[in-house]
This record gives sequence, C-alpha cells and structure tokens, in this order.
Amino acid sequence: MQYEEIVEIYDKIARTTKRLEMTDHLVELFSKVDPEEIDKVVYLTQGKVYPDFIPYELGIAERMVIKAIASTSGLGDNEIERLWKEKGDMGHVAEEAIGRKTQTTLMGMSELSVEKVYENLEKITKASGPNSQDIKMRYFSDLMHNAKPVEAKYITRSVMGKMRLGVADMTLIDALAITFAEKEQRDEIERAYNVCSDLGMVAETLAKEGLEEVRKIHLKVGVPIRAMLAERLPTLEAILEKTEGKAAFEFKYDGLRLQAHINPDKVELFSRRLENMTDQFPEFKTELKNVFQGKEAIIEGECVPIDVNTGAFLPFQIVSHRRGRKYGLREAQEDYPVHLVLFDCLYLDGEDLTNTPYKKRREQLKKAIKPSETVMFSEVLVTDDPDDAERFFLQTIEDGSEGLIAKSLTSVYVAGSRGWNWIKYKKDYESEMSDTVDLVVVGAFAGRGRRAGTYGALLMASYDEDEDRYKTFCKLGSGFDDEMLLDLPTRLDEHKLEKVHEKVDSKMKADFWFEPALVLEVLGAEITISPSHTAALDQKREGAGLAIRFPRFTKYRDDKAPTEATTVKELVSMYESQLKKLDLQQRM
Ligand code: ATP
Repeated sequence: MQYEEIVEIYDKIARTTKRLEMTDHLVELFSKVDPEEIDKVVYLTQGKVYPDFIPYELGIAERMVIKAIASTSGLGDNEIERLWKEKGDMGHVAEEAIGRKTQTTLMGMSELSVEKVYENLEKITKASGPNSQDIKMRYFSDLMHNAKPVEAKYITRSVMGKMRLGVADMTLIDALAITFAEKEQRDEIERAYNVCSDLGMVAETLAKEGLEEVRKIHLKVGVPIRAMLAERLPTLEAILEKTEGKAAFEFKYDGLRLQAHINPDKVELFSRRLENMTDQFPEFKTELKNVFQGKEAIIEGECVPIDVNTGAFLPFQIVSHRRGRKYGLREAQEDYPVHLVLFDCLYLDGEDLTNTPYKKRREQLKKAIKPSETVMFSEVLVTDDPDDAERFFLQTIEDGSEGLIAKSLTSVYVAGSRGWNWIKYKKDYESEMSDTVDLVVVGAFAGRGRRAGTYGALLMASYDEDEDRYKTFCKLGSGFDDEMLLDLPTRLDEHKLEKVHEKVDSKMKADFWFEPALVLEVLGAEITISPSHTAALDQKREGAGLAIRFPRFTKYRDDKAPTEATTVKELVSMYESQLKKLDLQQRM
C-alpha cells in the first residue's frame, strides 16, 4: 500500500472530533490495506512502531529533525527555525517546507510505500552506538527526500513520537469489527486486545484468519495483560448489595501496580501502562524467583514504599523516585525500599485463571508463592457484615493504606475493564468530597506575583469516553509547593500547543494550551454545578457543567494515560452520590 493513501485518510481523521466519523474513515482505511501489513498500519495509526510493552526509542533530537528538513527541502536551517517558531508543530513545518521544495531537490523522488516508511522507522529505533544520531538522520532524510508534503507531515510526527491523530484504541477496535467481522462482535476483539495488549497482532489475526482465530488469543507469560480496574461506591452497605451480600475486602495499598511474569528463565515486571519496569525493581526480580513455587505464572500486586525503621507504608510519591531512574539505582534501593503486596494470580503453570472465580484465584496465588519479608499477600477479610467491614476499613487507615477494595467472591478477572467485580471504598469518602479525581492538564493561566514567569493555575479536564474528548472541570491553583511549581514547565512544555487541542472542549480561554498528556490527582471540597466548565454540560442543568469546589493538587499520576483519567460518567455518578449523601444527612 502506498503511504500516501494512508495519510490522506489521516488528514480526514484529523479534521473531525466525532468518534463515528473517525470510525468511518478507519473502516475506509482498513478496507484498502493488505492483511499482510495491517499490523504496521495499526501501529502507525496509534503513533507507535511496536506495542507498548516492547521498549523502544525513536530518539531523534529536535535539532536533527530541523537539520534534516532544512537539507531535504533546500530551505536552510534559519528558515526552518523560523517556521518552527511560527507554527509550533514540526509536522506542519515539514509539510510546508517540503511543499516549497525547489526543482533540483524534487529530482529522483520515488513513491513511498507503507512498508518502506515502517522499515525506516524500525531502523531508526534500532540504531545504536556512537554514530547512532547520524544513522537515524540518514533514515529520516531518506524518507523526507521521497515524501510529498502531506507525507512529510506525518513522517515527522511519527519520528518525534507526536502523531496526535487522537484515535483511541477503542475506536480502532470499532473499525476493525466493522471491517472484518460484525459490529456486535467488537467485544470479542476487545477481549483479545485486553489479554495480549497488541492491537497490531489482533488486527493481523482478524484480517488474515478471521474471528475464530482471534477467539484463540490468550494470555501468555511475558506479554502484559491490560489491568482490571475498580468502580467506586460511597457506603459499605451499597458495596455488599452489589456483591451478592458478601465480599472479600482487601486493603487498598497506595503504590504502583505491578504485573509480574515469571518463567524458568526470567522474571519481568510491567506497569499498568504496560511499560517494562523490570530494571527499576531488581530486588523483586531476585526475590520473586526465590518465593515462587511453580514453573510459570502471571501475578499482580502493588509495589509499596516502606519506612525501614518502622515498617510502616510510606506515601506513594516515594515510589516515583524509582521510576524512570537509570542512575543511582542502588542508592534508590537503599533509600526507598519497597515491598510487593500480591493480590491476584492470572495464570499458573499452563492454566489461564482469568475465567476462574476470585476465591479460587486467591487459593492459586497462595499455592504459587511462599511469602517472605518483602513479597507478601494483601490483607483480606471475607464478610457479609458492614460493621466488620467498617472496623477493617479503620484498621487500613491506621496502617496507612488508602481504604478497601471489595471483591466479589464469584467474580472473574476481566482484563482492561472497570466494573463492579472490584469496588473501591477510600478514606477520602470520610472527607467532604467523596474521592480524589484524576484530571488531565489541557491549559494554563499565566502566573502573577510570586508565580510570575511560571504557570499560575492549570485548566484541568476529565475524559469523556463516549465522545473521546476532554471536558474541562476546574481551574487548579493550590496544593503545589515551590518545587512542584518549578517542575511544572519542565513537565508541560513539551506538550505545549499554539491553540486549544482539537479534543479539548473548553469554554474558558486559557493563556497556554497543552496536548492532553499529564494526569494529576486532585481533591476538593465538593462537586458543584458550574456555568464555566464543559464536563457533563447540560446533563444536570441546561447550559451548565460540573466543577470541583476548592480543588487542590495531591499528586502526579504518571502511571495513568490521559484516557485513564476520571471520566465524565464517573463525575456524574460522584455528584449523584454526593446529593444522596446530603439528602440522607438532612433527613437524619
Ligand atoms: P485511584 O486513583 O482511586 O487509586 P485508580 O484509578 O488508580 O484508582 P482503580 O481501578 O480505581 O485505580 O483502583 C484499583 C487500583 O488499586 C489498582 O490498579 C491497584 O493499583 C490498586 N490496589 C491497591 N491494593 C489493591 C488490592 N488489594 N487489589 C486490587 N488493586 C489494588
């Protein structure tokens, strides 16, 4: 397939924010693709070269991209720098520059195929050693030399890891179902994706061999599964009602979720975003080998920082000292020791346990692991009595945990889903607002006074899954200490945009706009009706959305992708629980 055919469709997708229209364009794309290369087309559309769990880096420095565009277009570095300042998006710079190519530079061009583009991107990821930047430049320039303007735009975005097409995985799955199966069968495709985390591979299986083969995709040791998540409810009675009157209440540890894949040769650890974290926690690699009693397994747990002197849990932030850390790992291990608290077993010695009820999975977990000082099981209480559960809850708070996760005894493990099989009950329910929310930074306002020169407040949004858009929910200005304030530009500036991102729905006019990327945890006094925000607009009152009163920053959620932020639906249900609680209090 010619690369030009794909990018023409990308341009159509970029012009809409409507999920259904995007799906139609993707169906048009998939109908044209040769099944042999559909995996590549899916990765390119996701803005990737490989699925998330395969670590790779394109690693082309911005100045190298400028140089390559300058030399292939014949426009020179200064002009490209000028365009870069003017447009703020290197894709547009490349499109314009290549469009202004002189006659001499147009000579000797050949058509670009999808295969060629993908092959060069792969070579760029693989280039290593002292000359790696030169090698990367060569493969990038080779593509730019042959690219038409619109192709140049998307190639440049791909190599910079900023595809920005805004197509959610769930939309790709809709389109795959329509193209290669029946619309109603999309859930089976999603299931396969959730257990193998590789949409390219699922698409290829579907296109080449059909849904029957997709049904045979199962979990595999070494390939991370998309994590199962929890719903929330404000009272223990309501939780027991949802779990057939009885549940296993587990401590909800405040740490980093890790999925451990163990086989006779190696132990690998994956985060909830499917990143390979093995090298950051070498102590678990060794310890899991020691405590594991079987041959192969996939188990899940929470990695929690521990105070070496008291044995008490420490705040979650401490784990972040270990994330992305390449140097001083030994010091980090000593300064920030961690425990792994295990809570699930998804696979053991050839048996897929995801369709096995909770109770049996727990037994298998206990069979698989002999606990040690640093690897242990989550505390659990099985009860049908809300008072017992409440006493257990108070104990969790005293021990420094976040609250409880109630698990239905008969529930299976549904990869990638947030459902009523697991229900969280957190200590923040005791405070005024029922829970923290995780919001995405989409804009910022210039700081004044002490904050002059940096951001004064951030414009925060929740995620609307139905529309695949970000809806604003509050302006966030408190809870940051000085160090965090200094850190904000470093974290945000790489996502800066010239104008509001097409997926962001905002009535407010921010001074700066960002691509939705950074997720922050926020706590507030209560959720209120607001005419200024777009979250749940018109749902509770015409012309008004929902907002948080007195929001304050509590922590960074680097472990969450923007699409994993608190959804508009969740906000509406939190707002409704709050109203019910108020009503109850007033009647008491
Ligand atoms: P929150 O922001 O409220 O922590 P979340 O969005 O990160 O929630 P949820 O699905 O709401 O994730 O809660 C489940 C998370 O709780 C899991 O991803 C896991 O990291 C953590 N957790 C801690 N203890 C347990 C436990 N015993 N069982 C399952 N998950 C646990």
